[in-house]
Amino acid sequence: MPTTPPSTAEIEAVPCPRCRRAFAVRAAREGMLERLLSLAYVYPFRCQLCRHRYRALRWGVRYQRHSRRQFERLPTQMPVKLIWGDQEGSGLVSELSIAGATVETDQPIPVGQAVQLSFRSSGEDVEVTVDVSMIRSRRAGEVGVEFTEVSREHEERLAQLVRDLLERMKQA
Ligand SMILES: [Zn+2]
Repeated sequence: MPTTPPSTAEIEAVPCPRCRRAFAVRAAREGMLERLLSLAYVYPFRCQLCRHRYRALRWGVRYQRHSRRQFERLPTQMPVKLIWGDQEGSGLVSELSIAGATVETDQPIPVGQAVQLSFRSSGEDVEVTVDVSMIRSRRAGEVGVEFTEVSREHEERLAQLVRDLLERMKQA
């Protein structure tokens, strides 16, 4: 099932108190307090770059919906090398977020398998290695992976790639 990329309106210019950038999506409310706060236009947000969850006032704004995913997967096309056990293969990252990816590959990698991923964006010439990813889902020709171990340096590169994708989307 292809995911629908967020429209421009869904990326909120509500600065993240941790990384100070404004690339958040409205998150689902959790608990009674957040339900009450939302009546006063205070909503939870999830920073798409540093993963921080925070609340912010959006005076007068009423939301019809919020993101089902905590981290929106953004469409992209990046060649990727996969290594698992003593095996190796290749594929294409077709969707990317700070927390995971969709990878098109014909490799028969089972759900639950830990995989190392290395991918490169053509435009920026940035290479990112995710030391450990877990295969979370499998469909014909593609797998869904969650990033579980990324070095600090590569997490920053990953954030840069996601930021580029978000900015490109804003301009589109
Ligand atoms: Zn942030």
